[in-house]
Amino acid sequence: MVPEERICRVHLPRSRHRRPPAPKDDDTPVTDGNKNSLRCTLCHTVITKQELALSVQGSHEHAFFNPAGIAFEIRCFRAAPGTVLQGGTSDVFSWFSGYHWQVALCAHCRTHLGWRFTGDTVFFGLIAARIR
Ligand SMILES: [Zn+2]
Repeated sequence: MVPEERICRVHLPRSRHRRPPAPKDDDTPVTDGNKNSLRCTLCHTVITKQELALSVQGSHEHAFFNPAGIAFEIRCFRAAPGTVLQGGTSDVFSWFSGYHWQVALCAHCRTHLGWRFTGDTVFFGLIAARIR
């Protein structure tokens, strides 16, 4: 005779999707000790580094207005590893002739930090007030 506890045991599959684990960096933004790092002003995630600064069309810093009349001071960098790109590329109202732009957000808090420009070269124009 089989003990009742063995008959009644039901093996329910454990749900792996009930509560996704929180990302490890949930409350601890990506940081490093490099003084040359430039960080998102909101969440302090490292966005790029001073040594990635780039001169585009004769200047590292540029001031532009967007079509809505909002002024942006941007700084140009070869790369911005702390960003994620959003949406497709566009050449509408591009500030750099011959370049397409794509919105770049902070990879951690999703603040709009600037744009990636693609043309003869690829570079990032980051809003000066949003990185430090
Ligand atoms: Zn951020």
